[in-house]
Amino acid sequence: MASIKNPRTQKTDVSIAAIKTLPARDRRVHIIGAGPVGLLLAALLQPMEGLSVHLYEKRREYTRTRMVQLASYLVADSVESYRADHIDGDNVVAVFDPPELDEGLAFRQAIPSDLMALLQQWTLGFCPLNVIERSISDLIDARKSSAVQRTAAVMTPEEAMTMLTPGDILIDCTGSRSLLRDHLVPGSGGVGGANTLTIRLEYALVIAFLYGQKYDCNEYCKYSKNIENPHYKFIPMVHRTHYDGSVSHVTGIVNITAEEYEAMPSRFDGQWLRSNFPGAAQSMDRFIDKIKEETHGEILGDLEIVRIPLDLYRARNATSRQWRIAEHGDHPFVSSPVFLAGDSAIGSPYFQSISLGFECAMFLAGLIAQRDVPLKDMLDRYELYTYKQWLRVYMRSKMIKHNKDLFEFIDDPLALLDKLHIY
Ligand SMILES: Cc1cc2nc3c(=O)[nH]c(=O)nc-3n(C[C@H](O)[C@H](O)[C@H](O)COP(=O)(O)OP(=O)(O)OC[C@H]3O[C@@H](n4cnc5c(N)ncnc54)[C@H](O)[C@@H]3O)c2cc1C
Repeated sequence: MASIKNPRTQKTDVSIAAIKTLPARDRRVHIIGAGPVGLLLAALLQPMEGLSVHLYEKRREYTRTRMVQLASYLVADSVESYRADHIDGDNVVAVFDPPELDEGLAFRQAIPSDLMALLQQWTLGFCPLNVIERSISDLIDARKSSAVQRTAAVMTPEEAMTMLTPGDILIDCTGSRSLLRDHLVPGSGGVGGANTLTIRLEYALVIAFLYGQKYDCNEYCKYSKNIENPHYKFIPMVHRTHYDGSVSHVTGIVNITAEEYEAMPSRFDGQWLRSNFPGAAQSMDRFIDKIKEETHGEILGDLEIVRIPLDLYRARNATSRQWRIAEHGDHPFVSSPVFLAGDSAIGSPYFQSISLGFECAMFLAGLIAQRDVPLKDMLDRYELYTYKQWLRVYMRSKMIKHNKDLFEFIDDPLALLDKLHIY
């Protein structure tokens, strides 16, 4: 029977068979990264008996103010409401079996009411990302039942491995530049990209602004306000305008070339755009002028612009399953399962990533709650689940990209036909 060395003590501590029978109440769960997904996981696991939750975060403050919205499927109470999104709905039924959907809905019903109330609020309108982070963080700290142990530190892969004792669970929620993703493949030495599949969909400017009147957008609006913009069409994403009673928050994207992306700083304002990319700025101005004509309002402040590559990516392995298969008996990931959640596991453009991360966090919390699931099954089930979520978000993202491509050429029938592959 394989025995395992504790990397910290260098002692042979416990056999694999013994790990399986470790009392559940001794189980420590380490969550590295207290962004939205790590925090949600901590809040879901915190009330569960027999777990001691440890949360590690390098940032001292939550400063990201970008407005985000969560998908309504996160608080769905029926299969019909779970598949309400018209692009996503059929994919969901194609990918997930009915019992899987039922299990996800049942888990939602069991989410503590304090947390569910927050989720419900965030699916209704826009919310700054740091408000989501602070709210969950405060909720965790306010709960009296069991404390989450917090550590302020920049963790390294080596530290993460060293702190493990057999039977611990390690969850990497460190975001797109995941701490452990590339360490999940034995023999890779943690080399960048060893465990990552990336599909670049496009380069884009994400442009956000505030507008002093109520403004709603739909597909006709996107068309009519871009009618004089052959290039740099500004496309507010579906549900990306939100009126909070006095101000409309508008966020959309503009497609740019790889060369333009390289020539831009990562973050800038409308003034910089006007001076350096007047064509893109004029296109924005035309769009905004048409909003003003209709609703007689004014832009409040300047445009906030971020340039980003819109990548779809996934960890080919979202768990440490390969370490167990390879039988590297003395590696800490053999005796302590590792899971990736949130952007460390799957990244998707078009403003859906947090919801996807929350969805995976809920599944993982549900899995950890089931004490009788053997470790191998836990790893297999999480791998399968994340793969299915990947298929779902891949199909949705490709469909959005395709629709966007058609839209770019909507007034040029021949170019449009080039983009269509009809049958
Ligand atoms: C411009 C822009 C707009 C967006 N808008 C939306 C939107 O509207 N809707 C949406 O769903 N998504 C949106 N997203 C994506 C969304 O912000 C991410 O999907 C989300 O933040 C991912 O959450 P996460 O918890 O997985 O990772 P992160 O938010 O990246 O959090 C990771 C955490 O881990 C910590 N960390 C990292 N490394 C270490 C370490 N070594 N040690 C300790 N701590 C560490 C970090 O400090 C951070 O707190 C947007 C992204 C961008 C760039």
